[in-house]
Amino acid sequence: MKIGFNKVGNTAIPFEISKERLKFSGMLVKYSRSLIQLEAKITGELLIACDLCAEDSLRPVSESVKFYLSDGIYAESNEHDCDIVEVENSMIDLNDILESEIELYKSSYFSCEKCKNK
Ligand SMILES: [Zn+2]
Repeated sequence: MKIGFNKVGNTAIPFEISKERLKFSGMLVKYSRSLIQLEAKITGELLIACDLCAEDSLRPVSESVKFYLSDGIYAESNEHDCDIVEVENSMIDLNDILESEIELYKSSYFSCEKCKNK
């Protein structure tokens, strides 16, 4: 699902997409002249490999995310610097955003039930 950067105004635009067992739903709303705020929830289940035994197991996911989208490179510096995601071609690609959130989630340390109880 893609939304044009210019399509997002002061009225929040709800969205919902899913990938495998995950649902990504939330709102896009104009935050400032050059930023759009994205506030969303990622819920469902995700297959994650254990850091100790490398075996995949299904984990429940319930994450709230909030960040700002910039059309191209964000040059103005302010307190939101660390929460800014730059979008390409003035298109907000929600699948892309979900994908990177999943990668982030997968990269955090995780040990399965079996290893945890050792
Ligand atoms: Zn394990």
